[in-house]
Amino acid sequence: MTNPADKTSMRHEHGTIVLVEDDIHIAELIDIYLRDAGFRVLQATDGERGLELIKLQQPDLVILDIGLPGELDGLEVCRELRKTTEIPIVILTARDDEIDRIIGLELGADDYVTKPFAPRELAARIKAILRRSDRKPRTGEGPFHIGNIVVDVVRREVTLNGDIVQLTAREFDLLAHFAEHVGIAYTRQQLLDAVWGSGWYGDERTVDVHVRQLRRKLGDDFPLTTVWGVGYRCG
Ligand code: CA
Repeated sequence: MTNPADKTSMRHEHGTIVLVEDDIHIAELIDIYLRDAGFRVLQATDGERGLELIKLQQPDLVILDIGLPGELDGLEVCRELRKTTEIPIVILTARDDEIDRIIGLELGADDYVTKPFAPRELAARIKAILRRSDRKPRTGEGPFHIGNIVVDVVRREVTLNGDIVQLTAREFDLLAHFAEHVGIAYTRQQLLDAVWGSGWYGDERTVDVHVRQLRRKLGDDFPLTTVWGVGYRCG
């Protein structure tokens, strides 16, 4: 038996994760795997407690099961979190529930993992997301102007006609990519590789969901063209 005191002193150099999952078997599996991968894992079994824990602990990332008991399901927790924070969120969805995945991404989740999943895949995705959100700003770049939109990659800030636009981390990265490559048409796969990274396993519709969000938030000032049979081009 491990002394419980040892658990808290275990290495967690990769950061703290709050896991909100009511299925104790799945939670335990994720917990073991992520601790082993060097994360500190804190657990909640419903949405309300999850939100409290996140507020209290300010973790580096949140894993949210969609189907949770109580007042708040995972999507509602996601929506609540996005009102105040850009913290990376990974949602866990059932195999057949494409709608949940799309809604989750629209609500600002950074990624999703479909149950059943290999813990190794989940850990890989989490590391990829944390690498991206940690990415040091590249000095001497930008800010980039797209019409009335200014994308400041150093401050990670977007303004439209001088007003700050709230974007999720992934929306920001996608917009920054477009801003840095005005006039070039990209396929969805190229955008996935450039913005989500080559370790990302999701499907191309994820790009469409994020594009839709950018269009919604930036309106007609965002000169993004759908290039039929190819993908998207800014300007
Ligand atoms: Ca569940």
